[in-house]
Amino acid sequence: MNAEIIAVGSELLLGQIVNTNARFLSRQLADLGINVYFHTVVGDNPDRLKNAMEIARERAELIIFTGGLGPTKDDLTKDTIAGQLGKRLVLDEEAMKSIELYFEKTNRIMTENNRKQALVIEGSTVLKNDHGMAPGMFLATEDNKYMLLPGPPSEMEPMFLKYGQAAIAGLSGNQAKIESRVLRFFGIGEAALESEIEDLIDQQSNPTIAPLAGDGEVTLRLTARDDVHGTAQALIDSMEAKIMDRVGEHFYGYDETSLVIELSKLLKSQNLTLSAAESLTGGMFQQDLTSVPGASSLFKGGIVCYSNEAKMGLVNVNPKTIEEFGAVSRECAEELAINAAAITNSDIGISFTGAAGPDSLEGHPAGTVFIGVHIKGQPVHVEKLSLSGSRDAIRKRSVKFGFQIIINRLSGTRK
Ligand code: ATP
Repeated sequence: MNAEIIAVGSELLLGQIVNTNARFLSRQLADLGINVYFHTVVGDNPDRLKNAMEIARERAELIIFTGGLGPTKDDLTKDTIAGQLGKRLVLDEEAMKSIELYFEKTNRIMTENNRKQALVIEGSTVLKNDHGMAPGMFLATEDNKYMLLPGPPSEMEPMFLKYGQAAIAGLSGNQAKIESRVLRFFGIGEAALESEIEDLIDQQSNPTIAPLAGDGEVTLRLTARDDVHGTAQALIDSMEAKIMDRVGEHFYGYDETSLVIELSKLLKSQNLTLSAAESLTGGMFQQDLTSVPGASSLFKGGIVCYSNEAKMGLVNVNPKTIEEFGAVSRECAEELAINAAAITNSDIGISFTGAAGPDSLEGHPAGTVFIGVHIKGQPVHVEKLSLSGSRDAIRKRSVKFGFQIIINRLSGTRK
């Protein structure tokens, strides 16, 4: 089955909001093994919506609309689709009751246009809205299947997951179990990762491999369905093993995780505490670390030492080190990491010093960053990075490298 997503809303065309509904639905449909061939965006205009719908009917079996179901848009989507299909709108008693209940609970007076929200296209399956008032709909005609979902993601997403998905899964004629797994990588660019696994991507069918890059990270979403070669789970396991053989050193976690979450888990499991002395990152590392619930058991505190005076005065860096090697140096990073751990009596100290840009610093081009990691009982380790991008990107990426270096050193995977 193939699908088209039509997002209705002039705000989308004006650039006031981003079409996150299309992204969400595309991912969900990919997991269901449905190919999305087109995303369409149309403003709040019945003629243009009719037009978009007619084009979609010719090229997609499943058409999913989002937006234009609530009272503010005068039920544009519902009216237009019903009109095009020659169907009437009928009152759905259950939707009416839940709208009345909503007004009762919130002590507000119900207006006539709110009542209209309980009208649904005749013959459609009503998709309950557990987080708002306008119900969704699912309708199968001889040639196409239609799904109408509300615009607000907080209503649309749970409606799709709870009711929409089941309606589609029942249709696709394929009851095989579909599973999906996201593999997360850091420290390797998208192009480099893709070229390492190019042949696997070229041959992909089941599982499919979908790469996605952002924020210096790359993810691969593997999606498989049960077939004669094995269960979805087994097929994913086997593809994952092949991928790991090639790029496993850059892998850090599965599905909805992040480097800082993985690091926090590792520190907790090994009962270790961590401290930081940050120059170019100005506290970003510590901010990220404390965003994870339960950080107090692994983070005692740290220091932002932006100036040389602070490096010497607050973190006890030897003035001779700065004089001889500069603040952007391996030697300074080493001392900062060791002293950060000592001052806070932590098991691990990490330091960040470098040139965030746009100008060079002490003769080092922007993007030169030294990260020092001192783990109790081990020799101090310093990595020199040459990063590119904006000042903000360099600082954020430095923090992520910091997380990754500690993860790798604690889990013993560092080359
Ligand atoms: P409402 O009852 O709020 O009018 P509706 O189903 O009529 O719901 P719209 O009026 O089209 O939906 O959109 C309501 C809000 O939902 C928008 O202002 C926007 O915040 C969000 N929204 C709509 N479409 C999208 C989309 N494609 N992606 C992300 N957010 C969206």
